[in-house]
Amino acid sequence: MSERARIDVLGVAFDNLSMDEAVERALTLMRKRRAAYVVTPNPEIVLACREDPEAAAAVAGAALTIPDGIGVIYGAKLLKTPLKERVPGIDFSTRLLEALDGSGGSVFLLGSKPGVAERAWEKLRERFPGLRLAGVHDGYFSDDGPVLEQINAAAPELLLVCLGAPKQEKWMHANAPRLQVGLMVGNGGALDVLAGDAARAPLGWQKAGLEWLYRLLKEPRRIGRMMKLPLFLVQVLRARPK
Ligand code: UDP
Repeated sequence: MSERARIDVLGVAFDNLSMDEAVERALTLMRKRRAAYVVTPNPEIVLACREDPEAAAAVAGAALTIPDGIGVIYGAKLLKTPLKERVPGIDFSTRLLEALDGSGGSVFLLGSKPGVAERAWEKLRERFPGLRLAGVHDGYFSDDGPVLEQINAAAPELLLVCLGAPKQEKWMHANAPRLQVGLMVGNGGALDVLAGDAARAPLGWQKAGLEWLYRLLKEPRRIGRMMKLPLFLVQVLRARPK
């Protein structure tokens, strides 16, 4: 395994890769079929890891850590150790699905409210006709056992784990040794977006790094969570080399 070039942002070590490089690394991990997992921390998760050792251990156990939020990119820049580029979790997973479409691989969709994963699949099968569905399960279960059994019976190439952070990171960390999958990605609200329930910001907003603002305008109740962003930047400024 080649050396991982990583950049520390307030205790979370991000892999310093472009989108293309991250996808390549992920496909290599997938082929090894060791149930390695990818995490996509945003500033909120970075802060959560500082207060929750279990979340920190789960994030540290990832084989690939990609910077999902623009806040992390700003943070790394302020710390004078810039990351190559933002790698949004949903775009990253879409690239993996595209690759599986080409190779006839399968995906298991885990998470979100009942019915969402099924609707996400309806959209995905139109877009990726070569992709196979290994199964779906909603994200509101209390016993892991039957869910693990269902996943292992299908042994998918890719498992999208969309339970929200840091629950999904802890779930992947705890269950990786018992899972027969190629690769897992902790993907937050990705199934809601793929199902068409949650709209993504228009491309112009995304390019301007304003996806968070668009989300806030659409879902004002997220304000409490969004206030973590200034808090994150204050901590970055404190940690900044003189
Ligand atoms: N979720 C879930 N199980 C839970 C809690 C949350 O499946 O016990 C799902 C929820 O339905 C939503 C996703 O996890 O689809 C979290 O979405 P959010 O946009 O909050 O994700 P993040 O901001 O963490 O990417």
